[in-house]
Amino acid sequence: MTRTGAQYMESLRDGRTIYLDGALVQDPGTHPSYRNAVRSVARLYDFQAAPENRELMTFASPDTGEAVGRCWQLPTSYEELVKRRLSLAAWAEGSYGFFGRSPDHVASCLCGMMMGIDVFREHGEERAKALQNYFVYVRENDLYVTYVIVNPQANRSKPASEQEDEYLVAGICDEDSQGITIKGAKMLGTGSVMANEVLVTTMAPLREGEEKYAFTAAVPLGAKGVKILSRKSYESTAVSEFDNPLSSQFDENDAVIYFDEVKVPWERVFVYRDVPMCQAQWHTAPTHVFQNYQAQVRFMVKLRFLLGLARRIAETNGIISIPPVVTTLGQLAAETSMIEGLVKGMEASGRQYGPYYVPDTQLLYSAQVLSQQIYPKIVHTIRDLAGGGMIMTPSSVADFLNPEIAPYVEATQKSPVVDSIERVKLFKLAWDAIGSEFGSRHEQYEMFYGGNSISTRGHAYRTYDWDNVGEMVDRLLSSYDLPQA
Ligand SMILES: Cc1cc2nc3c(=O)[nH]c(=O)nc-3n(C[C@H](O)[C@H](O)[C@H](O)COP(=O)(O)OP(=O)(O)OC[C@H]3O[C@@H](n4cnc5c(N)ncnc54)[C@H](O)[C@@H]3O)c2cc1C
Repeated sequence: MTRTGAQYMESLRDGRTIYLDGALVQDPGTHPSYRNAVRSVARLYDFQAAPENRELMTFASPDTGEAVGRCWQLPTSYEELVKRRLSLAAWAEGSYGFFGRSPDHVASCLCGMMMGIDVFREHGEERAKALQNYFVYVRENDLYVTYVIVNPQANRSKPASEQEDEYLVAGICDEDSQGITIKGAKMLGTGSVMANEVLVTTMAPLREGEEKYAFTAAVPLGAKGVKILSRKSYESTAVSEFDNPLSSQFDENDAVIYFDEVKVPWERVFVYRDVPMCQAQWHTAPTHVFQNYQAQVRFMVKLRFLLGLARRIAETNGIISIPPVVTTLGQLAAETSMIEGLVKGMEASGRQYGPYYVPDTQLLYSAQVLSQQIYPKIVHTIRDLAGGGMIMTPSSVADFLNPEIAPYVEATQKSPVVDSIERVKLFKLAWDAIGSEFGSRHEQYEMFYGGNSISTRGHAYRTYDWDNVGEMVDRLLSSYDLPQA
């Protein structure tokens, strides 16, 4: 069944351990560093549960027939994939694309794993059964799952097993008839302060002998021993919505997660001490494709928002009709449309994977590589369009409220199309989106959330249909030879 926002917020009172600014936080829903972001997630759940959004956001559970979130749907056709995308896009619009790890991201990852359940069966019937049961559990309870799949940076030139500390990287340190015990760290749990569960596994290839790191397990974020080491909160200093319209409500946070000998029952272990399976779970099953397809849908929405922002800046500064500005906006429009085209293209040229229908891998990786490249460029272009406008804003909303200062603000914040309040609102929004610490973190996010650019380009190389392009060249080469003497 779908949850309401209130039920979601209640579920976070699970005794979790979040460390922030030298202190322990247990209920992110009431803490000034996280509560607005939590409320924004709650709004997504309320949107999903609203009767008028039932068709858009839910489908009938194959087990109970009750309405469950569409993000848990395993599409069997192009039409179902598109319907599912519309729900992902609707949720992305709820944060203007600024929640990278909204609940539908790891839901998409788990859908990919479920579509590839046969890959897990080959690994072991028990592990596959555990995954299947877990999937039903999180779908029926509409849980927010995030993941940590990357090892913490330390010495990147050495594998997990050769780091100074054997348990820098989370590994299995013990096991018994009940389950495994994991110890060590993973980066970088986006959304983990406000999710219910975390999927722990590994993305980078491991080596033979590194079996202790080769596991996949699901852990409740309130489980004993889970330490959520939160990065600085941007929300805590974004006290005014007027001054920080995005960071005051969409700081999803990121955290290193330390597993301090966390016991995980076998029912929550999906991969166990199997190095090749750690790769197969992503790439033989359609997991990696399906989770990153969600990411591209979300990115498409975010680019539409940034394009709208660029246009409003140009209008507000009275430069919208100047030819170089028109061409700049045209360039941004083309880049936004390119991502939309790739999303729609990967759906249209998707493929059957058993009974399921999954997006086209080649186009997905092309989109990932290009997204990482264009985001910083788009940010730079908006900076260029905005000039000093994002900086010449009043220090805070309080300046408008002081009758001594307000007339000066009014006299200096001019635009041919809007009043001073609207002008300041727009430029503060622009700064929050691309220039603030929150905005800067977003640039880092878009460049790295799907892996560094070496690995995404590697995936593009790996999945491209080289035979086809090579054959064309060979055909032309073989159509002529040395001229006859
Ligand atoms: C804001 C943000 C949110 C994130 N959220 C999550 C999350 O929710 N869950 C999660 O699991 N992870 C998350 N990540 C982590 C993300 O997956 C990693 O950042 C990504 O996989 C890259 O790893 P890395 O950061 O260690 O960078 P590295 O892989 O260390 O790369 C950094 C740079 O080092 C160089 N380099 C590294 N390796 C090589 C090599 N072999 N050859 C040549 N050069 C190399 C390159 O210049 C590269 O650009 C997040 C990251 C960010 C920034």
